[in-house]
Amino acid sequence: MAVRVDLQLEEGLGEQDVDRWVQSACVLCSHGCGMDIAVKNDRIVGVRGRAEDRINRGRLGPKGLYGWQANNAADRLTRPLIRRDGELVETDWDTALGAVVERSRQLLATQGPLAMAFYTTGQLFLEEYYTQAVIGMAGIGTPHMDGNTRLCTATADQALKESFGSDGDPGCYEDINDCDTLFLVGHNVAETQTVMWMRMLDRLHGPDRPRLVVVDPRATPAAREADVHLAIRNGTNLALLNGIQHELIANGWVDHGFVDAHTVGFDQIRKIVTQYPPERAAAICGVPATQIHEAARVVGTARRLVSTCLQGVYQSHQATASAVAINNLNLLRGMIGRPGCTVFQMNGQPTAQNTRECGANGDMPAFLNWQNPNHIEQLARHWNVDPSVIPHWFRHTHAMQIFRYCEEGAIRLLWISGTNPAVSLPELARIRSILAQERLFVVVQDAFLTETARLADVVLPTALWGEKTGTFTNADRTVHLSEQAVDPPGEARTDLEIWIEYARRMNLQDADGQPLVKWSAPEEAFDHFKRLTQGRPCDYSGMSYDKLRTQGQIQWPCNDQHPDGAQRLYEDLVFNTDPDDCEEYGHDLTTGAGNEEKDYRALNPAGRAILKAADYSPPHELPTEDYPLLLTTGRTVYHFHTRTKTGRSRRLQEAAPEVWVEVSATDAERLGIGEGDLVRAESRRGSLQGRARIGDIRRGVVFVPFHYGYWDRQASGPDGDGRAANELTVSDWDPVSKQPYFKVAAVRLVRVEPADGQQAPAPEVTA
Ligand code: SF4
Repeated sequence: MAVRVDLQLEEGLGEQDVDRWVQSACVLCSHGCGMDIAVKNDRIVGVRGRAEDRINRGRLGPKGLYGWQANNAADRLTRPLIRRDGELVETDWDTALGAVVERSRQLLATQGPLAMAFYTTGQLFLEEYYTQAVIGMAGIGTPHMDGNTRLCTATADQALKESFGSDGDPGCYEDINDCDTLFLVGHNVAETQTVMWMRMLDRLHGPDRPRLVVVDPRATPAAREADVHLAIRNGTNLALLNGIQHELIANGWVDHGFVDAHTVGFDQIRKIVTQYPPERAAAICGVPATQIHEAARVVGTARRLVSTCLQGVYQSHQATASAVAINNLNLLRGMIGRPGCTVFQMNGQPTAQNTRECGANGDMPAFLNWQNPNHIEQLARHWNVDPSVIPHWFRHTHAMQIFRYCEEGAIRLLWISGTNPAVSLPELARIRSILAQERLFVVVQDAFLTETARLADVVLPTALWGEKTGTFTNADRTVHLSEQAVDPPGEARTDLEIWIEYARRMNLQDADGQPLVKWSAPEEAFDHFKRLTQGRPCDYSGMSYDKLRTQGQIQWPCNDQHPDGAQRLYEDLVFNTDPDDCEEYGHDLTTGAGNEEKDYRALNPAGRAILKAADYSPPHELPTEDYPLLLTTGRTVYHFHTRTKTGRSRRLQEAAPEVWVEVSATDAERLGIGEGDLVRAESRRGSLQGRARIGDIRRGVVFVPFHYGYWDRQASGPDGDGRAANELTVSDWDPVSKQPYFKVAAVRLVRVEPADGQQAPAPEVTA
């Protein structure tokens, strides 16, 4: 990718005005672009792409260029808040943390550790997640720990474990430079990872153009560039992918030498996918069979195949089975572990990888296997606790179940850090009522008074990126160090400082009566974590803060064998599936039933990748006469998650100021809806209002961006019709990854009032 240094400074400032540049990387998507932070008068005043960074070669997208403005927002939280007589009022740290400690102690004494739960994010730093995992698992001893990565990349994590034995994307972004075929499934890359899309565009508009197949019900920018665009019916990914696998086998496009030597499970998948000739898949997916034939031919004749997927797979029906089917395609073609050949089970959030690596999503840190007693002993030794202290008697509790336990009263303290479930979880009326319960003590750690924070009992003000030091890891395993550039505002503290102080006040101890958390600074936390990873797939042991400063970025594994990091995993075609090393023993993809060690040993993968398949089944909520349309929620290029940060960047907010409801021309005509009309979208669970955009979207499908909540209306929820897409979505999730479904809810549209000259507030450049 050619160097182009993108720069954005506060109006009226030039590069010569900047006091200092501080090394960092962007935390507004999983691409992880290297950038420097511009500081003037101890304020962040801009950013500049790092030309020497192999991730982006200086390029930045709109969120990267303008997202930093949120740091300077006037409504940053600067003091802790506590609920008194129903109102949140300012207090001091001693009182706020004292209240959290008191409630924790009381619950531990009366109800035990299962009364406490932690729900974190994909936007903190490695050091913070790791510290939280130590506290939650070895200090409190609760299995109720998850991150909002459950909504985002739980399926990526799960699919990688199912196929390759452990988490971690096999390839690197340079594989996009080297491939001759790109296969994008449910991945609106132009809006979710703009700089990755720049890399693809360089190829698509350069010499030796790769072929491109896109699966998406909307005509996204990537779909508009595609050789084959499959605008399939929501919730039918698996039928399509089974159809394509059918064609690979039927047409002799399988690399049998590779499959025989380096995989297990071929006979099992053949039995299933041979039931899906393209004509059957086409009838399920609602696209012409010729398109499936053509897509399969492109994939089947590729010489170097890069496949990617994101929320169109992860947040849709049969998520894990579909994501695994994408892994299958590259394995059947023998296209992994070499230049131009990989699968990107993409991440959404910038530090989602670290949530998973550090155990803050409930997985064991360092990709250790919760079912393997030797792994638990290794972890217990590292933390100097008894193995029985670490909850490993069943799989950790996923976010949807945590909220269910809160609803039922089993969990009485929910600690939410850096995330906004009052906008991002499905079925918001239910979520708000759970968070508002008197008996549930809600602690929120955030930089802003989010919709969720408004429902909390205690709010702890936090530092943002640029105001703290730490590391994070992007979707191609590249680790960046982000240095503190300025102080946080007022009394705000880093999440790391808050966790450490909580552990101290709780007197959390190891087996020798020493403090459980043995560090007081980010670098010490990093070093403690990296020692645990030695010999594991995510091996950080060869990294240090100094090395990251000097080299700018390093991919794991980084160890004696790979002192500067490794570009690709599995170059030796030995996968992480050895029963003694693997991160999990896998699942039945249809039911989610977990394998036991003996099942896994019987499969005998022993370093070979695992091919798995499942039959298609229809989504649980299908269109009816009353609710004849299918809702899919998604993103716009200008916003990140619930707009907590990007909504406070003037340029980003002006570019996409308000929710809209996107509908096809055919449906709009049938319903008498014109561009810009105010419409109400209704599901069985709630409603929202927005202006209609007549878009290039599959007939029968409605798209609503999920970013818009209520914080800028000074509320935690709607007063009347809603604005948040998740008012409509359904409490249903994938049986394997437990990721909620945001792409399959039945809705109807009602025209409320005519446009009267108004346009839908949808950005023109987006899908
Ligand atoms: S592509 Fe992602 S990481 Fe890069 S600048 Fe844009 S938001 Fe930031």
